[in-house]
Amino acid sequence: MSDGPRVVIIGAGFGGLEAAKALASAPVEVLLIDQHNYHTFQPLLYQVASAALTPEEISHAVRGILRRQRNLTFRLGKVVTIDKEARFVTLEDGTGIGYDYLVLAPGTIYHDFGVPGVREHAFFLKSLTEAVNLRSHLLAQFEAASADPALLEQGALTVVIAGGGPTGVELAGALVELFSRVLTKDFKELPVDRARVVLLELSPTLLSPYHPDSQAYTLKTLKQRGVEVRLNTTVTRVEAQRVHLGGEVISTRTLIWAAGVRASPLAETLGLPLTRGARVPVAADLSLPDYPELFVIGDMSASQDAAGKLHPQVAQLAIQGGKHIAKQLRRRLRGQPGEAFRYRDLGSMATIGRSAAVAELPFGLRLKGLFAWLAWLFLHLLYLVGFRNRLTVLLSWAAEYLTYDRHTRLLAPMVPSPTEQQNRSGRLGAKAPFMKSR
Ligand SMILES: Cc1cc2nc3c(=O)[nH]c(=O)nc-3n(C[C@H](O)[C@H](O)[C@H](O)COP(=O)(O)OP(=O)(O)OC[C@H]3O[C@@H](n4cnc5c(N)ncnc54)[C@H](O)[C@@H]3O)c2cc1C
Repeated sequence: MSDGPRVVIIGAGFGGLEAAKALASAPVEVLLIDQHNYHTFQPLLYQVASAALTPEEISHAVRGILRRQRNLTFRLGKVVTIDKEARFVTLEDGTGIGYDYLVLAPGTIYHDFGVPGVREHAFFLKSLTEAVNLRSHLLAQFEAASADPALLEQGALTVVIAGGGPTGVELAGALVELFSRVLTKDFKELPVDRARVVLLELSPTLLSPYHPDSQAYTLKTLKQRGVEVRLNTTVTRVEAQRVHLGGEVISTRTLIWAAGVRASPLAETLGLPLTRGARVPVAADLSLPDYPELFVIGDMSASQDAAGKLHPQVAQLAIQGGKHIAKQLRRRLRGQPGEAFRYRDLGSMATIGRSAAVAELPFGLRLKGLFAWLAWLFLHLLYLVGFRNRLTVLLSWAAEYLTYDRHTRLLAPMVPSPTEQQNRSGRLGAKAPFMKSR
């Protein structure tokens, strides 16, 4: 272990992990803290929720990833406060940990925009637990409808997804495939063709930052595959078995909230003015103005481009931020001046389902259909952590492509973590049910 300055990193997501790795040979002592002992590859959470992949295939133990890094230790724990004057963080169990440099990379939680009932009744897709519990809930609805077909009339097989961004689009496409290709064979006694996937979007288009051609292709493909897309539609209230859209009501036991995120509640403990989505304003080098020893990266950072536009909350922003602050720390230790962060947009992509995706790549290159889908598969395999995960995901995808089957249809919910319980209840220490009663 190095006896250099102590760098504490909060969060072993894309940003925190990259920062930790990039400090491997720096003369510092790194302490990486996460509330889970694993890293989650969030872009594939929807595949866990739709029974295509197992939770283990998209996650990796943090200690395993960093086991060879001599200047690093990992601490399992949830950070609850940051004292930026005294330079220490406090864990939920009361432990205080001092730092010379602090890297904040705790990401985001869901944002309900104040819509009544969302927090109590919606499903979210921000963690492995939520993805597994959504999958179990969906399978449980099919089992319940099989035992009592009258439940069909009450919307047991109706899934409503709020939010037509990449998460909503990918999940909608994956769920219609799960219903029409897999569950229809499992539940021969049920009229599975009556199962509905309804995708709601507030704005006039899906995938709003994408090119109009990509948006039109996505809309057409989802509709062809059986998704009911409703644009210009707002969720006004959610109840246990109903979603209100102004005057209209949809009977459902499954509302999935993919409509937005806000920065981790840790942002509020900094006692600073925050920007849109509770993101933390940063200086050009990603440090906090007036607190040069404190860096904020990834989804929580309100870094901006030259025109003052907030950078997108995507994995690449976190990865590049992690690399950048590691470089800045090394420069500081050598007495060199800091450098401004420059985000390099490597493009964006969203998959719609089997052989269909849209990809918007650098230099204005746009793909759609099979080639975009292959590019999507390749890039997701490339960025998955761990050789074994890449191999098993590749095999799972190949098997699914050839057999039209899904291999993870276990009705086996996970106990929500204390953090997820608190996020949902909105108060610290409150107990949430094992699974929502619906
Ligand atoms: C369903 C979904 C699909 C997505 N798809 C894509 C995609 O296709 N492409 C793309 O580029 N981006 C995608 N994103 C966005 C991308 O995952 C995020 O931009 C990225 O994960 C942000 O990285 P981060 O390091 O800031 O935070 P995260 O990766 O969220 O990591 C935060 C870490 O901090 C930990 N943590 C949080 N609070 C605390 C605390 N108080 N104490 C201790 N630990 C804490 C968490 O456990 C977590 O490990 C998707 C996100 C979701 C939810």
